[in-house]
Amino acid sequence: MKITDIKTHMMKVPLIRPFHISLGVITHAVSCLVEIETDEGITGYGEGSPGPLITGENLEGTVETIRVLRESLTGMDPRDLEAVYTVMNRTVAHAGTAKAAIDIACHDILGKASGLPLYRLLGGCSNELETDMTVGLDEPQTMAELAKAHVENGFGIIKTKVGAGIEQDLARVKAIRQAVGDDVKIRLDANQGWHAKEAVELIKRLNEYDIELVEQPVPRFDFEGLKYVTTYSPVPIMADESCWDAKDALRLVSERAVDLINIKLMKCGGLYEAKKIVNIAEAAGVECMLGCMAEESGIAINASAALGAALSNITRADLDASFSLKELPFTGGFTIRDTRYLVLPEEPGLGISGLKF
Ligand code: MG
Repeated sequence: MKITDIKTHMMKVPLIRPFHISLGVITHAVSCLVEIETDEGITGYGEGSPGPLITGENLEGTVETIRVLRESLTGMDPRDLEAVYTVMNRTVAHAGTAKAAIDIACHDILGKASGLPLYRLLGGCSNELETDMTVGLDEPQTMAELAKAHVENGFGIIKTKVGAGIEQDLARVKAIRQAVGDDVKIRLDANQGWHAKEAVELIKRLNEYDIELVEQPVPRFDFEGLKYVTTYSPVPIMADESCWDAKDALRLVSERAVDLINIKLMKCGGLYEAKKIVNIAEAAGVECMLGCMAEESGIAINASAALGAALSNITRADLDASFSLKELPFTGGFTIRDTRYLVLPEEPGLGISGLKF
């Protein structure tokens, strides 16, 4: 089997409501949807969704990078994932979003060619997983009302953005806990918004509200600060922006700088690298979460969900971005059970039946 073409489709769709985090505001789902065509008539779907606030990439650059990769990959067998990866890394450095789009489409082809759904191809531990629902930064009462609405709608885990003012963060978490009651898990994401020492003091105070974990309390480059927070925090600490790839994961777990790792396909460049992160973390006794960019439209979330269900060391999922879209740009993929469970399809590959344009 040979790759004959890699087609790109740019997509920009407004979110139902703007999404605020400590780094800035996200207003649109922004994606490059990819179709990899082969000489055997199998087409693989992928998605690269640049999150400028997190990865520094944009849509036009992602499309251009995929065009460059297309030149190197045409003629290769898309099922040879190690070979595809080696060529991609020799063609362009970094560019996780463009690589993830191609990686996802190649996995889709591998699944279709072998007749297996992706979750089974990747490990098959389960065919479903529970996602949390995220509440963006806002006034405490507004966040509390949104969180309550999500819980009434059926979500059991609320992820709350913080990292914008110490006293305001305390008021946010207090209001949300009061609104959702005691049975709902609350996890926090500071998106690099605190300094190490203030983070420890704040987390000790926030612990009164029964917090499951705190994601990325300090700037992404401050590994020592992250380790300090992990050492002195009473609540488990998760790396997100500090962990891009397997090399970051190795450093973080070797230095005992985190308790948990949040993996995103757009950071690490796809499923192939994500599996390496999971394996390194598992060997160190560190559990993983699968996350997504707020800009994703859902094809990549299908790939993330398949990996999250497939591997037992992925114990948490934050795969809620497509809930913020009025309409998905594709047909097929996972179904939703009881609001919060993503149930993976039994069709081969991603189970995406087509793009809507
Ligand atoms: Mg995060």
